[in-house]
Amino acid sequence: MKYIMALDQGTTSSRAIVFDSSGNTVGMAQQEYAQIYPRQGWVEHDPKDIFGSLIGVFYQALIRANVSAEDIAAIGITNQRETTIVWDKNTGEPIHNAIVWQCRRTADYCAKLTEKGLAPLIYKKTGLVLDAYFSATKIKWILDNVKGAKERAQRGELLFGTVDTFVMWKLSRGKIFATDYTNASRTMLFNIHTLKWDEELLNLFGIPANMLPQVYPSGYNFGVTDIGVCGANIPVCSAVGDQQSALFGQLCVNKGDIKNTYGTGCFLLMNTGDCAVESKNGLVTTLGASLNDKPPYVLEGSVFIGGAAVQWLRDEMKLIANAAESEILARSVTDSNGVYVVPAFTGLGAPYWDAEARGTISGITRGVKKEHVVRATLESIAYQVNDVISAMEKDADCKVKTLSVDGGASANDFLMQFQADVSNLQVIRPRAVETTALGAAYLAGLTCGFWNSIEEIKRRQQEKKLFLPKTDEEYRNSLIKGWELAVRRARLK
Ligand code: ADP
Repeated sequence: MKYIMALDQGTTSSRAIVFDSSGNTVGMAQQEYAQIYPRQGWVEHDPKDIFGSLIGVFYQALIRANVSAEDIAAIGITNQRETTIVWDKNTGEPIHNAIVWQCRRTADYCAKLTEKGLAPLIYKKTGLVLDAYFSATKIKWILDNVKGAKERAQRGELLFGTVDTFVMWKLSRGKIFATDYTNASRTMLFNIHTLKWDEELLNLFGIPANMLPQVYPSGYNFGVTDIGVCGANIPVCSAVGDQQSALFGQLCVNKGDIKNTYGTGCFLLMNTGDCAVESKNGLVTTLGASLNDKPPYVLEGSVFIGGAAVQWLRDEMKLIANAAESEILARSVTDSNGVYVVPAFTGLGAPYWDAEARGTISGITRGVKKEHVVRATLESIAYQVNDVISAMEKDADCKVKTLSVDGGASANDFLMQFQADVSNLQVIRPRAVETTALGAAYLAGLTCGFWNSIEEIKRRQQEKKLFLPKTDEEYRNSLIKGWELAVRRARLK
């Protein structure tokens, strides 16, 4: 059998990619699906859309690759994390829409728990900041708000899953009820030190243990798809949360390896090996992908507004016609002329965690042109990423020398060079930036013997583009000092 199929169930679309043994894409399909906003700050998906769009792209990708289901050696699944689905064990019917990771409906409840002083306990066990983002309070909300759900859950009639679990259950017509360490570690119910569902937390949130899936490594033979669903009994050989999948897809498998995804926001993950690093700088500790029962620990930090700042230049400021033009304008000037943009549109994340901060453009003098503002906006993405890298370096007590990059805005060579300069490290960009899907594919392929080792995959990998730091220390420090001042201005009340 010649191919691996990666199924990428993302927040706004489902994608399927067929890879050959060199990691080349031979067929790809993508389908967007509906975002449901029942109230301000609430976000839902219809589980029927989640699975319907995914199975749709599964068949489309097969057609585009001109292969049949029998040609697929294994399926790998990667997914939007934390999103919560509860369904009936017997009928398979969800009892409520999926509550999406972005949904803030349980923020007040989380604030109450914080007031009660529960945040340190939760951090100690799960590595997470007590927040509505993670699955635990979303499950509780469904049990509390859907009529009869609590009793049905207690009677063992309901199942909970993150999206990977739900998808595997549907693909196998109820035979596979499982998840992996990376997804489990985002529920706020999983003890990342004992690698078990945590009884004390289950009691705290009133969630019966019998609702929860069995937890396995990300690369694992979970079972096979149902022939009536996929046209063949295809082994499902990986399940992994999207960010950890990208980390694996970049082959950041050693301690100290770090990647950043430059998407709408930015997601930085650092592999810290067998060491669960405690963050003093607002990062979370989570589990990474593995092929055995020893998942690596990972430090994670995110930037809320990354590529979205470029969208803002295009759609609201109308300074550019398309994202790629930002690079041309940025290169047309030698520097930002003292201008700093701080795109704190929704506050600032790690290491500041300041929800009140707001966007600023500062340092404007008479000679400042739109090119400078555009350049400063791109630079702001790199400065924010640099802030997270610095936090990771402090927490993990190491110096980052290489950053692997992917995501839409990593196509911007100016931004990549500026990142290398401002962070004084080497930026590595793979030619194919489909690293999220690749991670799930690598894990599945390594599990089923399609590939024999990570070294073999490394040998087959396509060339990468390198960006080396070119600035001297004095100039770099002056840039960063300017950024720090700009951030202070953005935080003035
Ligand atoms: P997501 O997965 O979060 O939807 P993507 O990885 O598809 O994001 O990246 C989309 C983001 O990348 C957008 O915010 C867009 O503005 C930005 N982007 C795309 N191309 C460029 C470019 N050449 N320069 C800067 N930003 C870009």
